[in-house]
Amino acid sequence: MRWFLICLLLLGGCQADSSDIIEQRFMMGTLVSFTVSGMDEDKARAAIRVAADEMQRVERLFTIYGDAPNTVKAFNAADVGQAVALDTEVESLLNLSLQISRQSTGAFDPALGALNVLWGFSNLDAPTQPPAAAEIKARVRDAKVDYVQHRTDGWVRLRPRTMLDFGGIAKGYAIDRGVEALKAQGITHAIINAGGDLRVVGDHLGKPWRVGVRDPRGEGTLGWLEVDHDMALVTSGDYERFFSYQGQRYHHILDPKTGYPATKSRSVTVIADSATLADAWSTAMFVLGSQQGMPLSKQLGGMQVLWVDADGQEVMTAGLADIFHHH
Ligand code: AMP
Ligand code: MG
Repeated sequence: MRWFLICLLLLGGCQADSSDIIEQRFMMGTLVSFTVSGMDEDKARAAIRVAADEMQRVERLFTIYGDAPNTVKAFNAADVGQAVALDTEVESLLNLSLQISRQSTGAFDPALGALNVLWGFSNLDAPTQPPAAAEIKARVRDAKVDYVQHRTDGWVRLRPRTMLDFGGIAKGYAIDRGVEALKAQGITHAIINAGGDLRVVGDHLGKPWRVGVRDPRGEGTLGWLEVDHDMALVTSGDYERFFSYQGQRYHHILDPKTGYPATKSRSVTVIADSATLADAWSTAMFVLGSQQGMPLSKQLGGMQVLWVDADGQEVMTAGLADIFHHH
């Protein structure tokens, strides 16, 4: 986890008030902070505990790392053609992932698990050089959602290197579940922030919550956004997990068509009603880049997007420009 900790120091922060109740927990490879505003302290802390436990439950359900079994790992280890019964929550997130994969013409790809494992971006220590080109090529061939199929007796994979990876969407889903848990306990003003990916409930002392947008190349922030009510904001960036090799940056967001890190963006921030959608689309829009992504975001509706392109240019949808405050 060493190299994730460095990232924590670089996050764009949110403003806080002395009356806010704040708790932090390390999970999903990042520091998750829970802020509850305008609420009795004991009640707030109890609600946060339930929400944090719920998010940890979601993490266990979806992770492909560690030794504890789950149905995603069972699928990834199953023989080709052997049906595996997925947990119902995994099944619904998989169905949504397959839909987003098609809507994004394959830019979002939940079947690229074997590629991601090959690159090693989720290992405890950062990789130091890219894998062999032939290894990448073999995995790109199998990382197709068409090779993940639903049959009456369960889910099957049709190629040996077709493996599920919910890394691009599960954190958002966990945030949504955490928010639902807070709401179920009567919390009306709160924010759950998982390393810069967040969802807000209500407002903050009568004003929108202010969220910093990280500068993908500098130490600071590009500016801040004002969000309130049920908005979620998720950023995918090439600075989150990367290594340099022979003067080139290799990061964890892969272009499923090439098997190499996507090259069109430095960072993409998406605002949507749910953190699940914001998470999946921030990954997809990062791969697509602003030229392809902007028309698609308009066509689909329901999301606001800010790209920092590969050349540092900022491109944003009109709705995002309305709530973005530059320094
Ligand atoms: P995010 O930080 O949300 O953009 O997600 C990146 C994580 O999602 C990676 O660590 C991988 O686990 C996975 N991933 C990488 N590239 C893709 C992609 N093109 N589509 C879906 N998931 C991806
Ligand atoms: Mg994502």
